[in-house]
Amino acid sequence: MSMDQTDRTYAVSKTDEEWRAELSPAEYQVLRQAGTERPYVGEYTDTKTEGVYACRACGAELFTSETKFDSHCGWPSFYSPLAGDSVEYIEDVSMGMKRVEVRCATCGSHLGHVFEGEGYGTPTDQRFCINSISMTLRPQADAG
Ligand SMILES: [Zn+2]
Repeated sequence: MSMDQTDRTYAVSKTDEEWRAELSPAEYQVLRQAGTERPYVGEYTDTKTEGVYACRACGAELFTSETKFDSHCGWPSFYSPLAGDSVEYIEDVSMGMKRVEVRCATCGSHLGHVFEGEGYGTPTDQRFCINSISMTLRPQADAG
């Protein structure tokens, strides 16, 4: 349940008290305590709106709608992050399995997990399974 303490210093670094004050209880539970929202209820699960998904905790841009795909797994799924350094990966051995946790590289908040080799037929064969509540969609400005 608790997040691993790493020695890493993040560009955006706040105390637990500050995060609690800024985030809703549900956001705090996922972003700062590595929780997982229930499947099929997240606001972006089936969203097709074009735009950029930013970290709900710090605002860093994480994913774009261009790499979002229908995984039917119940959470928003992307086959690649916006940039290689926008997220970081941490081995997660909780729940009796080896998974790779995905965190925001700017503030260290929990986003979800990444799975590989599932055969989705995407360019990377990866599935970034991300909690809706960890992100804020910034719709692309309508160029007309
Ligand atoms: Zn962040």
